[in-house]
Amino acid sequence: MVIEESIPLYTFTTMKVGGNARFFARVRTVVELHEALKYAKDNAVPVFIMGGGSNILVASGGFNGLVIKIELKGIDWVKSADGIYVDVNVASGELWDNFVGETTTRGLWGLENLSAIPGTVGASPVQNIGAYGVEAKDVILNVTAVHCQSGEERIFYHDECNFGYRDSFFKTAEGKYYIITKVSFRLQTKSLPKIDYKDVRLYFENNQVTGREVSSQDIRSAIIAIRRVKFPDLNTYGTAGSYFKNPIITIGAFETLCKKYPDMPSYVIDREHVKIPLAWVLDVACALKGFREGHVGLFEKQPLVLVNFGGAESAEILNFADIVSRKVFEATGILIEPEVEHIGF
Ligand SMILES: Cc1cc2nc3c(=O)[nH]c(=O)nc-3n(C[C@H](O)[C@H](O)[C@H](O)COP(=O)(O)OP(=O)(O)OC[C@H]3O[C@@H](n4cnc5c(N)ncnc54)[C@H](O)[C@@H]3O)c2cc1C
Repeated sequence: MVIEESIPLYTFTTMKVGGNARFFARVRTVVELHEALKYAKDNAVPVFIMGGGSNILVASGGFNGLVIKIELKGIDWVKSADGIYVDVNVASGELWDNFVGETTTRGLWGLENLSAIPGTVGASPVQNIGAYGVEAKDVILNVTAVHCQSGEERIFYHDECNFGYRDSFFKTAEGKYYIITKVSFRLQTKSLPKIDYKDVRLYFENNQVTGREVSSQDIRSAIIAIRRVKFPDLNTYGTAGSYFKNPIITIGAFETLCKKYPDMPSYVIDREHVKIPLAWVLDVACALKGFREGHVGLFEKQPLVLVNFGGAESAEILNFADIVSRKVFEATGILIEPEVEHIGF
């Protein structure tokens, strides 16, 4: 394993911004991971774990420590004796969407709605990635991780991961010490289509599969087609997808807001809380769809997606996100939180 110095991080992030990593290491084995951690300890520098760089905003000043880019590879498929399910153990550096594609090629069910999400398998439990009515937690069995200080390996079973909406144990102060090396998923062999989410339902109403049942591969193709319209092309623009989380508010706060915005949609979370689709707030309550200042803007076709149209600095993006947050607060009194993690600020 080579430790490189002064490596520009913008080339490793989908936002396409950010300064240099003082030290940078690609780790392809768990042994190399331990070597990299030892290097950081010996040189008394902090560590940042990077997968595909698709959910981070790196400061122009970069990261004054060691960035460890996880490139561990390997997938192990284990069919149950009764053939009902397949447990899949996936190394954390595998590309998420390559893995999802492989599951649908094999006719397995569980991950098809999470097609076309950028990034690595190792990051999927961190924010419990989700889309089109499915979350990674629905199929994660356990997560194997190494403690970055003690080097101890630990398996976190599903309940120990404390999954929530775009949240998990791995985002807590204690959880951030763990580097995920492997994620195990349980996928079903029997048909389990989840096509009730509005965009997916409409897609199948307009593009019916005839003469046979819908396959997980059909759903994957549908999701890819839907997302192609909703997200900017990563080859052209910089983005980290949805910049903010959808806010979760109390039912009381929601009822008050409904007096001002009677059409405001919501999804029940529990007996006391609802989730508000932020795209609706940005579009209808704040009239911000397509809002742009300088090099940064909200994507015309999906206002949740913040775009670097080219040439933006990290501070400009942060400042733009701040303006959007303030406008949402002025219109609704809701404090929105970023989904994207800020590094080196
Ligand atoms: C166009 C676009 C669309 C997107 N759509 C969605 C979507 O539909 N749903 C959704 O949930 N997200 C979405 N995202 C966000 C992003 O793709 C996911 O959060 C993804 O899981 C990030 O993976 P990554 O490997 O790029 O992580 P990174 O951005 O590299 O890292 C993100 C966080 O995870 C940590 N991390 C990464 N790997 C590990 C590891 N092995 N061990 C411990 N910590 C680790 C990092 O330290 C950091 O805190 C989208 C992003 C883009 C650009």
